[in-house]
Amino acid sequence: MNIYSWHERNWANLFIDTKRFPHGLILYGPRDSGINNFASIAGKRLICSNSNKTERYCGICQNCSWFDSQSHPDFISVNNDSLDEKNIIKIDSIRNLKDFFELSSHQKNGKKVAVIYDAHQMNLAASNALLKILEEPPNDSVIILTTSNLSSLLPTIKSRSRLESFSKPSYEDATNFLKTINKDHQYPFLQFYNSNPLALINDCENHPLLIEIISSLKLGKKFDLSDIDGRWFSNGLIWLINLLQKWSYDILLSKLVNQQYYFPNEELTINQLARSSNTSALLKFQKMLMDVKLYATSPVNKEINLDIIFIYYRKIFI
Ligand SMILES: [Zn+2]
Repeated sequence: MNIYSWHERNWANLFIDTKRFPHGLILYGPRDSGINNFASIAGKRLICSNSNKTERYCGICQNCSWFDSQSHPDFISVNNDSLDEKNIIKIDSIRNLKDFFELSSHQKNGKKVAVIYDAHQMNLAASNALLKILEEPPNDSVIILTTSNLSSLLPTIKSRSRLESFSKPSYEDATNFLKTINKDHQYPFLQFYNSNPLALINDCENHPLLIEIISSLKLGKKFDLSDIDGRWFSNGLIWLINLLQKWSYDILLSKLVNQQYYFPNEELTINQLARSSNTSALLKFQKMLMDVKLYATSPVNKEINLDIIFIYYRKIFI
């Protein structure tokens, strides 16, 4: 268990002086950039008995061992298991934190650490309960929040916490990281995932579907409406619209500046499609996708929408 290489700067920022570690800390940045992993390792470091002798944590002390078996009395987390059916972190989870901090630390002068993953999922009652804890933080307590949606946290929670911004990995970071997983494997969709290797890995079960849809889109004017399959919706309409947006963006980019961004491996096909496309129809198609995205979260007749979208798609090409 280690932090990702693109988070080294954040690590250095935070652990330059552990004694002055803040009571409240918010780690924020893009989804799937590895922040939750960072928060967990930061928690382990704060609890490890030998952290002054090592860069992260020692991995062999009693505290590290309890941490690994998820039984450390001075560490608590609110994670996916704590969410209700609507993916909301409710007040009960935060009340548990209050009870947790009321007990003194297991170690003499040790810290008690709580991590709330994806803290933007707290409802208002939970947020207010957390605010109460942050207003009068117990000695040696640390509360780490992670979020990909900083603006949805209460301003009063933010003002009582230190904010640490995380960025997504560079393309070079991403390719280096993927090489460590499998140095011989090609990752043709890395740019489709905005060069975020964790997003790519998290969505890997959808790659066959991605290939299937792209092979249909490659037909351009000859796109066959009967190719549309219920599975195309298995990740929700937004996922499909995002794919269409990126695909049409690349056709437009090819037409305008002869480049691809999201699908560099499909250069030949995209260039061909771009040459046979009508720019104003392409722009109209993109506008349509944006409109559909706006109401995609409300109950709509998906099949009707899709038919219209793909009939438009075919009209792009002359
Ligand atoms: Zn240790």
